[in-house]
Amino acid sequence: MQSMVILGATGSIGASTLSVIASNPETYSVYALVANTNVDKMMALCEQHRPKVAHMVDEQAAKSLQARLSPSLKIEVTTGESQLEGIVTSSSVDTVMAAIVGAAGLVPTLAAVKAGKRVLLANKESLVMSGRLFIEEMKKSGAQVLPVDSEHNAIFQALPESVQQEIGFCDLDGAGISHILLTGSGGPFLTSPLSSLPQMTPAQACKHPNWSMGRKISVDSASMMNKGLEYIEARWLFNASVEQLKVVIHPQSVIHSMVQYRDGSVIAQLGNPDMRTPIAHCMSYPQRINSGVEPLDFFKVGQLSFLEPDFTRFPCLALAIDACNQGQEATTILNAANEISVAAFLDNKIKFTDIAKVNETCLSQVAKQALNSIDDILALDVQTRAYASEWVNKI
Ligand code: NDP
Ligand code: MG
Repeated sequence: MQSMVILGATGSIGASTLSVIASNPETYSVYALVANTNVDKMMALCEQHRPKVAHMVDEQAAKSLQARLSPSLKIEVTTGESQLEGIVTSSSVDTVMAAIVGAAGLVPTLAAVKAGKRVLLANKESLVMSGRLFIEEMKKSGAQVLPVDSEHNAIFQALPESVQQEIGFCDLDGAGISHILLTGSGGPFLTSPLSSLPQMTPAQACKHPNWSMGRKISVDSASMMNKGLEYIEARWLFNASVEQLKVVIHPQSVIHSMVQYRDGSVIAQLGNPDMRTPIAHCMSYPQRINSGVEPLDFFKVGQLSFLEPDFTRFPCLALAIDACNQGQEATTILNAANEISVAAFLDNKIKFTDIAKVNETCLSQVAKQALNSIDDILALDVQTRAYASEWVNKI
């Protein structure tokens, strides 16, 4: 029996994870559910999944959950940073699903890594912010980190087993690998006239053609910042160089990414666009379990197509690749700026096309001080958010 903590339980990845757990009750149990403010959803999840602990980061939400939960369920309700750390590092826990959205996921995810847990990593932002530190902590503690992000999970599945054991330190060249091909659908605005992009609404940006996801990552998919964050994530997870990593637009989202070998072979992972597949893969690796996902029907798929990314349409992708080449200071700044600009767009305060403008300004203007600790990273994150917010207010 694997005992699990779900960070971000009330979100989209949280729901898919709990669905896979519910399909395999003999193998997985829920030790704790963690969320921020959504008490209604947490109530429903507690009643269905009966965790030992329910943690709300927001104190008021924790009080309200405590008042509403029936004592007969015997669920401990907690709040506070040290309590959250206690949960993810508890000896009762084997596996942590890291699926809080954004920079807020960094501290608890890193705590799980430091405690040597099996960490199923959906929160790409934590790796974008703390890459080197994250990988070093992973090596020190011996934590097994498995990529949930569908592209990185696909790449992982297409790697030789020996390389799978070296996440963070892969020798791609030594394994005969020439390229990692990171695929992305191009999102809802792939073919929209460029002149229409400034008028795109949050509802249009969140309407992804293939995937159903949380609002922040949906906007990131529309701007292709998501692919940019994934590019950075892939560089760290697979120890890939600029030359080894390519982005390929594949509008159908059937191939989830590919690994190209020196001998001309390309190994791809395919499947319906449903996060329960990569989640189930991470949960059961190296075994396989039922995920509840429909098998892929090739006759319904019909065609697979591929395009080169257009950086005029997707300036955020170019910014992310550029930041990745500059280093961790730049990626931390870009991540923080993007969280502020996306939130402002979702709040109807700025236009869709302003997201890239705010991100670019922060990247060029915020001073890139050296990052030697998690505190340095968090300080740069806070500083960038303040700068980005000022800019948003000026627009
Ligand atoms: P959602 O917006 O659906 O859910 C976010 C979750 O994070 C909620 O449970 C929310 O709690 C919680 N949360 C938000 N802020 C905080 C905070 N300050 N402290 C603690 N918890 C917080 O996001 P997704 O599930 O879509 O995405 C989660 C992560 O997974 C992201 O990093 C995303 O990039 C990554 N990912 C998602 C994919 C997808 O298909 N959705 C695919 C690949 C990666 P509450 O509801 O209480 O606010
Ligand atoms: Mg992805």
